[in-house]
Amino acid sequence: MTNVLVNERGAVLINKLLSIDGHENSISRVVTHVHSDHIKDLDKSLTICKNLIGTPLTLDWLVELGYKIPSDYIIKMDYGSRVSIGELKLELVKALHIPGSSQVVVTDEDGLKIVYTSDFKKPGIHTPILEADILVLDAVYGNPNYVREFDEYIEDILTDLVNQLLSKGPVIIYGYHGKLQEVMQLFRDKGVIAPYVLPPKVYNMTRIAEKYDLRIKDYVLLGSNEGAEVIKSGWFLLFTHVSSSNYVKKMKASEVILSGWEFKKPYRYLGNNRWLVAFSDHADFKGLIHYVVNSNPKTVIVNSVRSTYADLFANEVRKITKKDCIVMP
Ligand SMILES: [Zn+2]
Repeated sequence: MTNVLVNERGAVLINKLLSIDGHENSISRVVTHVHSDHIKDLDKSLTICKNLIGTPLTLDWLVELGYKIPSDYIIKMDYGSRVSIGELKLELVKALHIPGSSQVVVTDEDGLKIVYTSDFKKPGIHTPILEADILVLDAVYGNPNYVREFDEYIEDILTDLVNQLLSKGPVIIYGYHGKLQEVMQLFRDKGVIAPYVLPPKVYNMTRIAEKYDLRIKDYVLLGSNEGAEVIKSGWFLLFTHVSSSNYVKKMKASEVILSGWEFKKPYRYLGNNRWLVAFSDHADFKGLIHYVVNSNPKTVIVNSVRSTYADLFANEVRKITKKDCIVMP
């Protein structure tokens, strides 16, 4: 009998063989993507679990983020490939969230299918909706009020704003790792040709992403001679982690902060040439429900560790889908 649990650290556990996005004493640890709430206690897993499973980009990024992972410990899985762990078959499927993100599909010997979506956006468009017997999800925007009506247009709105600001001078973009590379690619796809200036960690992560399917081009390392040339030109985009704020003091630039926690308006002026744009890498409440309805599971498990309003969300799922819905832990 297959046993699916979520522990108090947010790990999704299947038969004590797999722990996904959190630590437990299991055979394998799976990492769906490199965001900090999904790689908690990874050091512990690296000493206790027998192997670490993820997409090639996710595993390369973990090394860049400072994790020492022995190469014989790693199982790199491309989307769609399969591996057996004990009696379970495991497959990673693409999720649109940050580069390298995956959903996890586990099938047991009786054919029972468990899907953990991890973080995703645009379900049914760029994130495949997977049918499941047991569907585990993190209701990041679990409150029915967490809806962004403008989500469909936000990529154009953000690009237009950045183009406008670029016509007046350099622009600094603040976001999380992964989201930064996603937005770099987005701007290129939308025809933005200004060079990018990147601090070392962002630069290295971008280079790694380009080994896979990102095509970002025309970016230079902050602190290099090339970087200094571009900065002197006064026409560039600087991408940096949301936690670093020391660049604007050194250069006169507009600033754009990417935030998932805005619902009323696509962007807001904060004063002092700073803008906050409601650019999220997560489906809103409607998107989460859309996934559940179309996945058509027998049981839904809401991971309360990485959800907001998990109980409220579970009630909505029961009301809308008439499905069995459990909040864990
Ligand atoms: Zn994430």
